[in-house]
Parts: sequence; structure tokens; C-alpha cells
Amino acid sequence: MRIAFDNTYARLPERFFARVNPSAVARPRLVKLNRPLARELGLDADALETPEGAAIFAGSAVPEGAEPIAQAYAGHQFGGFVPQLGDGRAVLLGEVIDQGGVRRDIQLKGSGRTPFSRMGDGRAAIGPVLREYIVSEAMAAMGIPTTRALAAATTGEPVYRETALPGAVVTRVASSHIRVGTFQYFAARQDMEAIRILTDYVMARHYPEAREAEQPHHALFAAVIARQAELVAAWMGVGFIHGVMNTDNTSIAGETIDYGPCAFMDSYHPQTVFSSIDQMGRYAFSNQPGIAQWNLARFAECLLPLLADDRDAAVEVAQEALAAFGPQFEAQLNGRLARKLGLAEVRTGDVDLARDLLGVMAENAADWTLTFRRLADTAEGQSDEPVRSLFIDPTAFDAWAVRWRQRLAQETGAAARMQAANPAFIPRNHRVEEAIQAAQGDDFGPFEELLAVMTRPYEAQPSKAYLAEPPAEHERVLQTFCGT
Ligand code: AMP
Ligand code: MG
Repeated sequence: MRIAFDNTYARLPERFFARVNPSAVARPRLVKLNRPLARELGLDADALETPEGAAIFAGSAVPEGAEPIAQAYAGHQFGGFVPQLGDGRAVLLGEVIDQGGVRRDIQLKGSGRTPFSRMGDGRAAIGPVLREYIVSEAMAAMGIPTTRALAAATTGEPVYRETALPGAVVTRVASSHIRVGTFQYFAARQDMEAIRILTDYVMARHYPEAREAEQPHHALFAAVIARQAELVAAWMGVGFIHGVMNTDNTSIAGETIDYGPCAFMDSYHPQTVFSSIDQMGRYAFSNQPGIAQWNLARFAECLLPLLADDRDAAVEVAQEALAAFGPQFEAQLNGRLARKLGLAEVRTGDVDLARDLLGVMAENAADWTLTFRRLADTAEGQSDEPVRSLFIDPTAFDAWAVRWRQRLAQETGAAARMQAANPAFIPRNHRVEEAIQAAQGDDFGPFEELLAVMTRPYEAQPSKAYLAEPPAEHERVLQTFCGT
């Protein structure tokens, strides 16, 4: 099979990557192809839904035109710097130009060892593969910048974690896989030539407007900051916790990337943490903006020599740019919260109104998604009971709602605005786990059903109402795990 790849990253200097083929597996089986995405990429979905396609998506065959590479990168993991990470279980097949003219990476994840695998097996189990598939596609459907899932394939081989699990490969599509950690890899080696090449590449591919600016590197840094501020605000609007916001998991293009122990909150608490490896709560829900800014400071350190001739002057430029993150993030989040409450714009008092609701929700363990969605229903004239009953003390909601309704009286079109800003469905942990459990027993029905619902998250879909419900006490998932 031939795919119209045009592989610009593989034409960069050899020290940017290692050339490595995916590993052949025992029994390639395509369990899911994202047909709409395949079409968007200009690929022939029918031709991919064949044994040949399965072989490609499981890593057993390399399509013509691919130039498989594992990309080099470094990263701060939980605050500690690791000078060499790299794609230890992923292989970039190549880049295609999609129907909209955008260059997109097609990468296999879980396709075997690479020179960056360190102690790892280069493999992925079916659980993390399906989790990434469902959650990334749900994020895309909610309009949040993210990598996409093109396919999931099983390998017919076990991978060994705590137990033996079915092996699988997810094919991921990204506007690129360049990370803050990619810059850190070269900065750690004091390879300024590589930093310049990478910076030019990133501007050409992701930030062409920065190239035209008077100070392209300043403009690039400012643009990366703006996209991160927007991204994290978007996450927080839907109660998403990334779980591993290491600098190697921070995309320069501003997409959500590297879905590991990520999760959506059910009941709201700002300090919510799910990841089993996040013992200190570094990546708790409400820490995410501060961490994003910290990661951007690490990016700035790599760019310093490009920001000014003199180091002190460069630090000043970087600090000034970084200071914009907080206000940008706040403005983004406040705008989102306002829309979630049916408000077309943020007026005096609105920020307090929104924050006070969050305070009451946290005190009363109210479900994040359902609170906003059922609030939207009340704006359509439905009863308050379904939303107020989400609060341990429903009268705390009543008191807040009086203020909200006074403000809402100044708006028109609030109900429609709220339905469009508040998803009815998020991939709840217990449902994702259920789908994974079934798939491990070779039943992909629950996965298919969950995925189908999640790709239309704002539609009511009454027959699927049970998927909108929070977990019962015994169904609650308290911890999520990395794919490693
Ligand atoms: P992640 O948790 O996906 O952000 O990965 C962090 C680092 O560990 C990256 O360099 C990965 O390539 C590497 N890694 C994760 N899982 C494996 C694995 N099973 N085999 C080899 N390398 C891995
Ligand atoms: Mg990663």
C-alpha cells in the first residue's frame, strides 16, 4: 500500500531521531478504524480496512512512502530533568497533508522497541490504547485541541505488566509530535545549531505568522504561551485532568498529547488527582495552569540565546512574556465559565458568580459535568430538582441560583449557549474501565458504544442517558495508571 507521505522531519539532521521500523507482530487485527479521520487525511478508508491495513496499524507492514523514525527528546518528569527520553514505544511513519492543507503526523504507539526504549518493552496493552482512543476522540468532539486516534489494532501477543495483557497499537495523528522536551534535548547538549533548526522548523510548520514578526523568536514564544493558556483553560472547562504534565508531554503546537493516567472529574474538587504515580498531587486539577507556566519557563530556557544577545536581557524578555500566561489563562477560563453559565460576555461580578458556584460545588461534591448540563436544562424551563439534588446540601445551590437568575435576566439565548458549552457526556472513568475490561475479553461492543456517544458529546441522546451518569459508590475509579 502506498500513502502520499511527505516526511519533512525525517529530512532534518540525523541527530533529531533514530531510523527504526515498527516490529512485526504475531496476529495483526484491526479493531477500530476512524473512517472520518482517514478521509480527512486523504486516506482510502476501505483500503485500510483490510488485512493489509491491519498489518500496517499493528506494525507488521510499513506502507510505501513511510520513513519510520523514533524522535529524540528530553524532559522534566515530575520536576526532575531527564536528558534523554525519546520515542521509546512510538514510531512516526510520516507526514501527510490533510484535506484542509494541514501537515499531520501519523505515528504508531506501542509498536516495539526503539533506540530510546531504555528498560521498556516498546509495547502497549489494550487498556491504554483504548483509553487514548476514546479520550482523545472525545476531546476532539468537544472542540479541544488534541492529537487524534486513527486506528487501534491488536497484536495477538501478550504484554507483561502486573499481569499478561493483550498487546495493542494505537495510531495517533498530531499536528506534530514536537514537545518542549524536544527543545530541551538539544539545549541539554548545548547544540545551538539544532535549536535554531528546530525553531525555524516549528515556525514554518506551526507559527508562520511569527516568522513575519519583527522579532520572530519573541513572537514564537508568545504564541506558544497563548496556545498553552487556551488549552489548559479548555481542559478545565470540561473537568479534565491530564495527569502527567511533564515537559515531554507538552506539545509545542498546543495540542493535548500523551494520554496516560488522564481522567475527567466526576464530583468536583480542585485538588483532584487520579494518577497512581502522582503521589504529591503535582498535577492536580487546579495546579494545571501553574504547571503549564512552569513548563513554558523550561521552554524559555532553551530559547534564551535567541531572545537577546545578552543573557540578562533575554531573561527579561522571557519573564515578561511568561507574565502574560496568567492573565491569558484567566481570561480564557473566565470566558468559558461565563458561557457555561449562559453569559455571552464577562461583566462585573460574573467572575465572582462563577467562582462562587465552583466553591459551592466543591463543598457539596457536586458532579462537574452534570451540574452545568442540568443548569442548562433549567435555563430551558425545566425544574431545578435534578441539578440541586447533585449538591449534598441543595439549599447551598438554591442560594447561588438566585444570584445567577438575576444575572441571567440580562441575557438572551442563554439556554442554547449553555447546551453548546456544556457537554452532556464525558468519558467517565468507570465507563472507560468497563469498555477496557470487556475488550480484554474480546468484546468491543462497550468500546464502540461509548465511542459513538462521545463523538456527539453535546447531544442529549436520551437512550444513552446511563452513560451520562456519575459512578455509583462501588463503581468509582479512584486511581488511573500510565500505559507503561
Ligand atoms: P509517557 O509516559 O508516554 O509520557 O512516556 C515517558 C517516556 O517513557 C517516553 O520516553 C516513552 O517513550 C517511554 N516509555 C513509556 N512506555 C514505554 C515502554 N513500554 N517501552 C519503552 N519506552 C516507554
Ligand atoms: Mg510522553
